[in-house]
Amino acid sequence: MNSPEHRKLPSVDRVLQALAPGGLGLPRSIVVAIIRRELDRVRETPDLDVPALAVLLARVREGIERLRHQRIQPVVNGTGVVIHTNLGRAPLGIPAAEALRAVALNYSNLEYDLVEGTRGSRGGYVEQNLARLCSAEAATVVNNCAAALVLILRHVTQRADRREVVISRGELIQIGGGFRIPDILEATGARLREVGTTNHTTVADYSAAVGDATALILRVHRSNFFLGGFTSSPAAQELTALGKRAGVPVVEDLGSGALLPTERLPEKAEGTVVRHERTPQEALRDGVDLVCFSGDKLLGGPQAGIVVGRSNLVEALKKQPFFRALRCDKLVLAALQATVDLYLEGSLDAVPVLRLLRTGREELRARAEKIRSALAGYPVGISVGEGKAEVGGGTLPGAEIASVTLHLTPRDYPAAELAARLRTADPPVVGYVAKGRCQIDLRTVFPDQDALVIRALRAALTKSPGETAGAPEKPPAST
Ligand SMILES: *Cc1c(COP(=O)(O)O)cnc(C)c1O
Repeated sequence: MNSPEHRKLPSVDRVLQALAPGGLGLPRSIVVAIIRRELDRVRETPDLDVPALAVLLARVREGIERLRHQRIQPVVNGTGVVIHTNLGRAPLGIPAAEALRAVALNYSNLEYDLVEGTRGSRGGYVEQNLARLCSAEAATVVNNCAAALVLILRHVTQRADRREVVISRGELIQIGGGFRIPDILEATGARLREVGTTNHTTVADYSAAVGDATALILRVHRSNFFLGGFTSSPAAQELTALGKRAGVPVVEDLGSGALLPTERLPEKAEGTVVRHERTPQEALRDGVDLVCFSGDKLLGGPQAGIVVGRSNLVEALKKQPFFRALRCDKLVLAALQATVDLYLEGSLDAVPVLRLLRTGREELRARAEKIRSALAGYPVGISVGEGKAEVGGGTLPGAEIASVTLHLTPRDYPAAELAARLRTADPPVVGYVAKGRCQIDLRTVFPDQDALVIRALRAALTKSPGETAGAPEKPPAST
C-alpha cells in the first residue's frame, strides 16, 4: 500500500480545491467522503496507474451528481400518469401548499382550543369537514390508507377468540410495492378467512364463514386491475345485511378516494373513457360501517389515510394505543384541511389532480405546438401525437384519458439518451421512450412548466454527443 505510485495521489484538500469553482452543491463532509472513496478505489486497485487529476475530478463530479439527483426535488412529470407513485402521487394545490407553509413556519393551534384557551382536539376541524364531505357520522385521519387498515384491523381483532377477517379470494390483492392485503392482515394479528374463488364469490360463501370467531367482514376495492368474464361478487348491501344479522362490522377499503363522479371528470377531453369509481358516500349509503381511503390518490391531497363511518367506531379507533403511532403531523393536517375545504367550496380546479384530468385536448394541443415551434432549428425530429394518459396510483385501471404527446427523435443520438438527459436536467423532466422516440405527455405537465420543458430540451439537444447524461454544467467562463 506504500508503493511510490500511491504517494503521487493528490490529497483530499487538493481535489476539494480543484472542485470548488464548479460549486459543490452538497454538504462539504459528503463531498469529502466521495473524494475519499475515489482515492481509496485507486489505492486498492493494484497495478493501476494513478489517474490524472482531471480524471479523478471527473469521477468525483459524477459521484456528486449521482447523489445530488437522489435528493427529493421537484420534477416535471411527462409520463402522462396523473397519480404517479414514484413521482410523489398527487401534487398539492396552491391553497394547500400555502396552508402547509404557514403552519410550518409558525406555531399553530394544533391541539389548542383558541376560544376556551384549553387543550383542543387535534385535527378536529378537518375531521368534521371530511365527515360532512363524505356524508359520514364521523371521520379521522392517519398517515396513509395502509395505516388506516392496520388500525381498523388491530381494533376489531382485540379478542383472542375473535380474530377472523372474512374476505373474498378475489380481493386478496397487492397494491404497488409491498402492500399485500393478506400480509397486512396477518401482520396485525388478524386471521385470514378466505371465501369464494378468484372470480366468483357469493353472499352464501360469506355467510357460511361468518361465526363466533368473526371479527370483521372486509371488502377491498380492486384498485389496480379488473376482473372480467365470468365473475360475480355480492352487492355491498347483501354483505352489510349479513353483518347486521351476525353483529359483525363491515369495512370497505376503497383505496383511491374519489369523492366525485369520476365518469364526469374528463369533461372536455373527448375520446376519454373513465368508469365510475365507487365513492365513500356510496359505500356508507350501502350500510358499510367504516370506509378507508388515501388522501393522495384521487382526492388530490397530501399522503394520508382517511377513515369515515360510524361515530362509535371512529371514536374507538382514536382511543386505540396504535392511533398515537399512526396519527398525522400538523403539516399533513394543514394541507388536507385546505384540500377538503376546496371540495366543500366546489373549487375543483384548485385541486391539481382534478384540473389535470379535466384539461381539454385542444388546450394541450396548442401548448404542444408552441413547444414544437420553440425547438425549430434544433437537431431533433418532433411531432405532436395522440397519447393515452392514465390516472395511475392504482386507481381506475382501465381508464383511458385522451392526451397529447410530444414525439422527439434526436438526430445525433438515441431517444433513450435524450430521455436520460432530460431526467438529469434542472429541474428534471421525466418522459418515456416508446417506438424508438422520446415522448412527453402534456396532460401531466403544468402549463407554467412548458418553458422548463423547452429549456431542458434545448440544453439536451445542444450538448455535444460525447457528453454523458448528468455531466455537470461547465463552470462560468470567468472562473
Ligand atoms: C392504494 C391503496 C391502499 C394503500 O394506500 P396508501 O395510502 O398508499 O397506504 C390500500 N388499499 C387500496 C384498495 C388501495 O388502492
